[in-house]
Amino acid sequence: MTHDFKITRTQNPKAKPDIDKLGFGVHFTDHMFVMKYTPDKGWHDGEVVPFGPLCLSPAASVFHYGQEMFEGMKAYRTADGRVLLFRPDMNVKRTNATNERICMPQIEESLMIDAIKAVVDVDRDWIPDRKGTSLYIRPFIIASEPFLGVRPSNDYLFFVILSPVGSYYANSDQTHTTKIYVEDVYTRAAVGGTGMAKIGANYVMGLKAQEKANSFGYDQVLWLDGKEKKYVQEIGTSNAFFVIDGEIITAPLTDGTILPGITRDTILALLRDRGAHVSERDLEIEEVFRASDEGRLNEVFASGTAAVISPVGELRWKDRVIQINNDQIGPVADSLYKEIVAIQTGAIEDRFGWTVEV
Ligand SMILES: *Cc1c(COP(=O)(O)O)cnc(C)c1O
Repeated sequence: MTHDFKITRTQNPKAKPDIDKLGFGVHFTDHMFVMKYTPDKGWHDGEVVPFGPLCLSPAASVFHYGQEMFEGMKAYRTADGRVLLFRPDMNVKRTNATNERICMPQIEESLMIDAIKAVVDVDRDWIPDRKGTSLYIRPFIIASEPFLGVRPSNDYLFFVILSPVGSYYANSDQTHTTKIYVEDVYTRAAVGGTGMAKIGANYVMGLKAQEKANSFGYDQVLWLDGKEKKYVQEIGTSNAFFVIDGEIITAPLTDGTILPGITRDTILALLRDRGAHVSERDLEIEEVFRASDEGRLNEVFASGTAAVISPVGELRWKDRVIQINNDQIGPVADSLYKEIVAIQTGAIEDRFGWTVEV
């Protein structure tokens, strides 16, 4: 580590949660990382402190105009007790792309990675070691300057909080299928918007559609493009993959509507390495349903850090409902899930140099 941070340890360590009932994002560790930004000093005073409430002015601009970004990554415990991060450099690159889009300051790669390592190291004994569990890491930045005007804040706060997690989807493990509702009214991202940025604003826009999908008995929505409601974009807060006649298809990043998932990038790299037929291309929802009718739709799955790979068993689009792969995980999703988890947890050789030890 090239940065030295002040560390203040808690006087009141919490009891660790039951490893069988971790859930996702409900338990938090004993510490968090906090760092300030001001225009004159840049990022400064980074420190590890006890996890606890914040004191902010009610006028802090994050509360009014939503200048906020976040990241999501995990720390994994290996069989021999080491702690690994997975491609943290990608999270920093995406942070800076997000920050650029919402007029927040850039952050140096080694500073952000050292901040994450520092707090994970202090709360190292919170990292669960059961299969399927990990320590979810949530870095985020908020605009903290107290003013009610629409312009970028001068001051910011950067945080890292940590949550020991089990499976992302309640009541199921990662290999269970989900039911997905194809949203044809609401829009997540339009060309020229903020789809490529990891910001809370993109999530609040999606709540209504998610609620609607849930009310029809579906787990999540499949988003279509904002203009024509014709092309597939993402599944909920994950990237979407379709296997048609052996071709593995995901939406391209070129028009700025798709969040550049690190799991997405990992999947593409692994598939290309296997010599699979992979396409980053526009895909019409009509083509997906037609392929299903003709028996050529092999698999659909979502990808993201939280659940890694989440196979889709059913898709509903208007009044059309299709079953995918007999509601079972398919060979592409299954093999990717196993390979990615094995790399992340140090069970197989990391031949791409993706893991970083804490
Ligand atoms: C975070 C996120 C993803 C997945 O990204 P990963 O880096 O793979 O976790 C996909 N879509 C959206 C909208 C996201 O916010």
